[in-house]
Amino acid sequence: MTLNNLKPRLPDIIIRENWPLFPLSTLGTGGKAEFFAQPETVPQLQEIVRAAENTPVYVLGGGSNILIPDGVIHGLVISTRNLSSISWLDDRTAEIGAGFSLPVLVKTLREKNIGGLEFSAGIPGTLGGAIMGNAGAGGRGVCEFAESLNAVDAQGNLVALGRDDFSYGYRNCTLSGVIIASVVMSWNGDSWDEAKYSEFMAKRKNQPIGMRSAGCTFKNPEGHSAGKLLDDCGCKGLRIGGAFVSDVHANFILNGGNATSSDIIELADLCAKRVCESTGITLEPEIKTLSPCFSVK
Ligand SMILES: Cc1cc2nc3c(=O)[nH]c(=O)nc-3n(C[C@H](O)[C@H](O)[C@H](O)COP(=O)(O)OP(=O)(O)OC[C@H]3O[C@@H](n4cnc5c(N)ncnc54)[C@H](O)[C@@H]3O)c2cc1C
Repeated sequence: MTLNNLKPRLPDIIIRENWPLFPLSTLGTGGKAEFFAQPETVPQLQEIVRAAENTPVYVLGGGSNILIPDGVIHGLVISTRNLSSISWLDDRTAEIGAGFSLPVLVKTLREKNIGGLEFSAGIPGTLGGAIMGNAGAGGRGVCEFAESLNAVDAQGNLVALGRDDFSYGYRNCTLSGVIIASVVMSWNGDSWDEAKYSEFMAKRKNQPIGMRSAGCTFKNPEGHSAGKLLDDCGCKGLRIGGAFVSDVHANFILNGGNATSSDIIELADLCAKRVCESTGITLEPEIKTLSPCFSVK
């Protein structure tokens, strides 16, 4: 694919070339997309996917759980940020665009006195990204409230998926090979629990606030806290290039300003190696590396 043959197929859509991706990730690292598009509507998203035949297609939501490799990302990177509509189907059910901000959703539910997502207090990103990783805290995750979703497949078709079409667990969802376009979220009759929300918000004080990160680097292994394991192995303060381990929370790797994604990968590997050597536990990354959603059709 070249810009010359992609652009004429999408006359109404802005396709960027060699587009820097670091501003679109909370870590603030990573290279450039060969091609980049930010559809405004689901039909535009479908058109873009259809036009991008035989090329790797990548999806970016809020970029808050992702490591974008350095250098050129060959193919087409699609940002869902403008798919941010919300339409209430009844008092407690809404169809929400994949690019809708999770913090805004939490604020909306708080204002409407609809309980359920209190545990999502302080989690950045979009709803689509949150569903893909079943984002949450305290043993809960946003997928609990997903009734159904619309997604775009590799052929550009809009497919409707119900609750039986995917399953989820701790920081994991089985959906793959599709781009989530919108999610029907439904909450039961619970009222908003402000005390619970404040409790989850308060826990954020044990995390580095206002620093460039992608949240927790590793998942908690069964029965353990990754942060404690890393702390016990002396990882706090470790540094490679511009990346360093927070001295507030050992499971946060921070970009001090001039880190590259390679610095972050090297530092994460070093931390995982230390934990493995001293405890025998293999840490699994929680941060995802930007990789193709689908490529050859
Ligand atoms: C300070 C901080 C605190 C955090 N705290 C928490 C926490 O407490 N709990 C928690 O679970 N997470 C936490 N995170 C991580 C992150 O905020 C969540 O995982 C968030 O839900 C990711 O959403 P996103 O839109 O940013 O996804 P992105 O980072 O953009 O993408 C994540 C993955 O989902 C894919 N993806 C995104 N959108 C779509 C879509 N529409 N269709 C298909 N695939 C898609 C991407 O390709 C990528 O593989 C934290 C992050 C930060 C920076």
